[in-house]
Order: sequence, then structure tokens, then C-alpha cells
Amino acid sequence: MTRRYHTAAGLSVALLLAACGSASQQSDLTVATPPPQNVIFFLGDGMGMTTMTAARIYAVGEDGELTMDTLPETAFVKTFSNDAQVTDSAPSMSAYMTGVKMNNEVLSMSSDTRAIDPIADANGNKLANNCGGSNGNPVPTLVELAKAKGWSAGVVTTTRITHATPAATYTHICHRDLENDIATAMVPGGAGYNTALGTSGLDVVLGGGKQFFTPFKDGGKRADGRDLIAEMKAKNYTVASNATEFNAVDASKTERLFGLFTSSHMSYDLDRDPAKEPSLADMTTKAMDVLSKNSKGYFLMVEGGRIDHALHETTAKKALQDTLAFDNAIKAAIDKAKISDPTLKNTLIVVTADHDHTLVLNGYAKRTGKTSAGNAGVLGLVKNYVTGATEKDLDGAPYSIIGFGNGENRTQASRASMASLDDTTTSANTYHQEATIRVAAGSETHGGTDVFLGAIGKGADTFLGTIDNTKVFGLVKNAAGL
Ligand SMILES: [Zn+2]
Repeated sequence: MTRRYHTAAGLSVALLLAACGSASQQSDLTVATPPPQNVIFFLGDGMGMTTMTAARIYAVGEDGELTMDTLPETAFVKTFSNDAQVTDSAPSMSAYMTGVKMNNEVLSMSSDTRAIDPIADANGNKLANNCGGSNGNPVPTLVELAKAKGWSAGVVTTTRITHATPAATYTHICHRDLENDIATAMVPGGAGYNTALGTSGLDVVLGGGKQFFTPFKDGGKRADGRDLIAEMKAKNYTVASNATEFNAVDASKTERLFGLFTSSHMSYDLDRDPAKEPSLADMTTKAMDVLSKNSKGYFLMVEGGRIDHALHETTAKKALQDTLAFDNAIKAAIDKAKISDPTLKNTLIVVTADHDHTLVLNGYAKRTGKTSAGNAGVLGLVKNYVTGATEKDLDGAPYSIIGFGNGENRTQASRASMASLDDTTTSANTYHQEATIRVAAGSETHGGTDVFLGAIGKGADTFLGTIDNTKVFGLVKNAAGL
């Protein structure tokens, strides 16, 4: 890609020379510093295509467009892992970041790495490493390649920053649940630090998960007594622990930013108090402001991480609102990137998901338009598209447009008992849509269907067709010149 850049630059010099015939033009142009090369990788956790469609109807109606819908280049991505038809976030994000297919629950390690559950630590928490000494090898991530090139790098999420998706960008470990160990990987110079991140480490870290940075005696989960937030401060990170501190950060004067806003995951967007927690869009644009001071470029990963959690709970409204918050972050990023790079010729933005869920859109529903006060929209019951009357199932009961293949709310015996189901019930913030297979609360599963990938900017046109998730790594690497 570097060679191609120089060839293209040389060609434009030749054309200019032909046009103006000036020798001085040539020297001016050939010494020009190449512009910064930037990559923003957006990952909607669990954001399958039915969820995207439902979120579109929820936010802007059937004929509206989310920002994701406007991306000019698209592909389908196969998500199976090394050992499973249905992946979890660890090997799927690792595949994007490393190009290697690995086993479920493994983070950025070679394919032969076995996922071994953590064992109890001194406090009885299952957080002690039992991976073993000869259990696979680390494989390089896009973030590490970016750092090795002198770029800046940032990781932004609404989950714990040590959760599988963000962790796959900056750590290598046999099991995603080892979140104490994962936290140490980002503290420059400390025990457990991932030296492949260079001497300076990640430049921006924003999300939740203070508990894995805090000693057990202080209410955290760390059995080793280390206070990693203090250690990050000592490494010259500007630390923000709430929205007020975050908003006060002057990005133009901040080299390294470390913000953890909650003990565990950040709130669902529906429940978020903006006085306490920044939005994903605000975290994304602040990260860009800090990272863009690097004249070589940056790699930024942004995760809409709680779409997945709401789907596991089968609370559709929370999932759709978090998908909308994720889409807002994409819009904010494209708008900001275009200020310094109007045609995005030096900026690649990729939007994808790590896996599907089992959400479905039932029935031949009449168009609902977007959800608003007084209109349940896609969160309501299926209505006949000719008469508008509420449709009934074989048991004579109404049913919601959104359902799940599996989940915690399955009506036992006949659905005749559901005769009074209405839009107000099914569109409530905490309603669990009905499922076909009944599983434990919060345990709705991922799905194995291919996911959407959209791209815009530099090299975006190389993303096309139906591709394996491991192929995304090489496409990003080549397009970005990493
Ligand atoms: Zn999940």
C-alpha cells in the first residue's frame, strides 16, 4: 500500500508538471509529508441484520435510513469459529483483529489454543489464570501493527474495557473471563503489560469496568492488590471517572486519555444518565480529537457493546436503542473525519458485527413507522396490513412483531392465555419478547447467520461479496497500509 501511495503521488506530480512545466513544483510536492492515515473500526456486538432492520424501523421508520444504511460498500461476513458453528465475541473479534480463526472464548491467540476456564483466586472469584504454559501463541493484532508503525491507537466501548471485544484488540489470552489479567495488559511497564503495544501503550481507553482495575480491599476484583487506575495516572494518562470529568478534558492538550465510568458495564442507552456517563458518540469524537494529533495516523476501535446484552435478555427496546446510539456514534465519526479529510481518501471506516442473535420479525405486519410516544412501532403487535386489525395466532391470541428463537419468556401451554397482550405491554422498556425455546433468564443465545459489513473511505471498495471473518483483517491491513 505504501508503494501504491508513492506511485499515485508520483503520477499526480507528473500530471502537474505537464500542466505547469515548473521544476520548483516538483521539489515542493515530493518533500510534502504524507497525510495521516486513519482507521475507525466499529463493532456492533451481536448486531445481526434482523436487529439492524428492527432498529431502522424503530428509529426512522421502514423507509428511513440509518447512517449504517448509507455506507457505500458492503459485504456479508461468515462468523463461525474454529470449534463452533455459533461464535462468541472472543474469537470473532479476534478474527477481525488478527486474521486467525480460533476457538470460542480465546482472545488473539493461535488456532491451537485451548480455552481453559479460570479457577478460583484467593477471594473465591473465578479469575485465576489456568491457561497453562504451552497453550498456543499470541498472534499480532491491528492495534499492535498500528502502534508499531508509530500510529496512535484507541479503544472505546460501552462494556467493561476488559470484555471480550475490546480485549481482543490489545491482549492475548486463552480465556476471555480472565479480566484481571486482561486489565494488566494495558498498563505500560507493569507486570502483565502487552509489550507489543510499544512503550507508550494505548493512547485512548474509554468504557466501563473499574472493578478489574481496583484492589479487592477497595471493592474491586483484583486479588493482587494493584490499583491499576493509579498506575495509569502515574503513566501520564488523563483520567476521567464520570461525564463531568470527561467533558472537561481538553483533547488538544491531552496526549493519553483513560476513562472508566462504571464499575461493570456502562448503562444501556435507555437507562443512561448523561450527567454520569457520556454517550458512545461523545466518547468516539473525543477519542478522535486526542488520537488525531498524531501526524502519522491512528487506529480506533469503537464497540456498541450492549446491543448483545439486551438481546441476551430478550429486551428488544433496549437492544434497538443501543443500536441507535451505536449508529449515532458512526454518524458523528464520519462527520468529524470529513472536517479534515473531506473525501475520506486517507480515512477508512468499517462497520460490522461479531455475530447474530436469534431475534426475528414475525408476521406480515402492517407498516408501523418509527416508534414514538403513542406508537409502539416495530415493538408492537402484528396488525393486518389491509384492515389494521390485530392478527391472531392459532390459539386466538395476538403476538408481537419481534420474537426470539430462544429466550426466557415462552408462554407455557396454549397462547390462549395471552389474549390480552397489547402494544403497551410489548413496547415497554423491560418487556421480554416471547421465544420459541425456553432458556434461563438472560441466556438467549447468539445466532450463526452471516453478518453485515459496511465500509466508507480509503480502500472501502475492497470489501465485497461473502467473506470469512478472518479475511476482514487482511482487507483492513491492506487498505490502511498497516
Ligand atoms: Zn453475547
